[in-house]
Amino acid sequence: MVIKPKVRGFICTNAHPVGCAKSVENQIKYIQGQGFGESGPKNVLVIGCSTGYGLASRITSAFGYGAKTLGICFEKPPTEKRSATAGFYNTAAFHNFAKADGLYADTINGDAFSDEIKAQTIDKIKQDLGKIDLVIYSLASPRRTDPDTGETFKSTLKPVGQAYTTKTYDTDKDKVHEVSLEPANQEEIEHTVKVMGGEDWERWMLQLSEADVLADGCKTTAYTYIGKELTWPIYGQATIGKAKEDLDRAASTIISSLSDKSVSAHVSSLKALVTQASSAIPVMPLYISLIYKVMKEEGTHQGCIEQIAGLFAERLFAENPPVDEANRYRMDGVETNDATQAKIKSLWDQVTQENFHQLSDYAGYNREFLNLFGFEIKDVDYEADVDLLVTW
Ligand code: NAD
Repeated sequence: MVIKPKVRGFICTNAHPVGCAKSVENQIKYIQGQGFGESGPKNVLVIGCSTGYGLASRITSAFGYGAKTLGICFEKPPTEKRSATAGFYNTAAFHNFAKADGLYADTINGDAFSDEIKAQTIDKIKQDLGKIDLVIYSLASPRRTDPDTGETFKSTLKPVGQAYTTKTYDTDKDKVHEVSLEPANQEEIEHTVKVMGGEDWERWMLQLSEADVLADGCKTTAYTYIGKELTWPIYGQATIGKAKEDLDRAASTIISSLSDKSVSAHVSSLKALVTQASSAIPVMPLYISLIYKVMKEEGTHQGCIEQIAGLFAERLFAENPPVDEANRYRMDGVETNDATQAKIKSLWDQVTQENFHQLSDYAGYNREFLNLFGFEIKDVDYEADVDLLVTW
């Protein structure tokens, strides 16, 4: 079957298996071209391993440090007529490349928030790996069912405290327009914290510890976005930001409750990038199109793989790495420094429907968006027949 992208709003409803495999291969090649130090992870659990920052973390662990990786994701397999999700094809490709290099890789496809998947993961670790020395927590999800109560919570993307009017770009209608976002009520804030806060990260770490599958000195990190003034009203100081603040609380709890194993837990703040998660956030496509323009001109543009390679080499496995006032690793300085922010702010103030395509790098944003689903990747023949039924 010949597959062309089917874009609906902020998602693409299909994926190209050969393009996804090529994108994974390109990230592997990038990592193989970097020099990583002697000290690194050996047995890694990546929760949210199939796309975006989690996939980059898995690739860095395996191909940068030769680690065995166990991944958890929530992806749809293909049918005769319907392509799998991109994360499914990415994972299949990752398994093939890992196998070719003699690297252990296994993946559990199911709801990471459930205790059932946690139990399956623990069994798998006991069977194949013994103990884990790095746990990456990279989930992005709009809902979570609390395993204790069975209640399902949904996250909301709204400002906190007061309504906020700002510019946004509608990728469907190619339109820059104003958007007014009503503030969240208390319940919406609490539910967002339930979904994207630190409760599940903590639960994972406690269950892994109780099952005695964490190595002494095990490291864990969960990913956050902090941003700056332009995105604070809709991200950093909004419902999602409240949830992300809860990760800081969880990191402290993990450190204190697992002190017998000297577990180190850090929140890592990463830069804004096009991923399936970020393209769903109002304002982000406009903001990211502008930062791509500025950062490409500055020569500081980075994708997921460059950010994560830096996080591993300069923070997670570096001696005495710097942390911020909340004990977080910061890899977002390339975006949040004052000089870069001033340039983005100036473009933000000027941008209108008429000049959007000149002032922004929307072409770059859109290409990276399609790349997420395996489309528009260099050296892939998109006219060729492909087999949808790829698996691992
Ligand atoms: P993504 O959408 O690319 O990846 C999400 C991953 O979570 C996928 O592997 C998916 O399969 C998995 N997943 C979702 N729900 C699941 C479930 N119920 N059970 C098992 N797996 C599930 O997202 P991303 O942008 O890479 O985000 C990962 C983390 O990085 C998030 O915490 C996000 O806030 C953070 N972050 C993102 C950005 C950005 O700009 N994209 C910036 C900084 C930090």
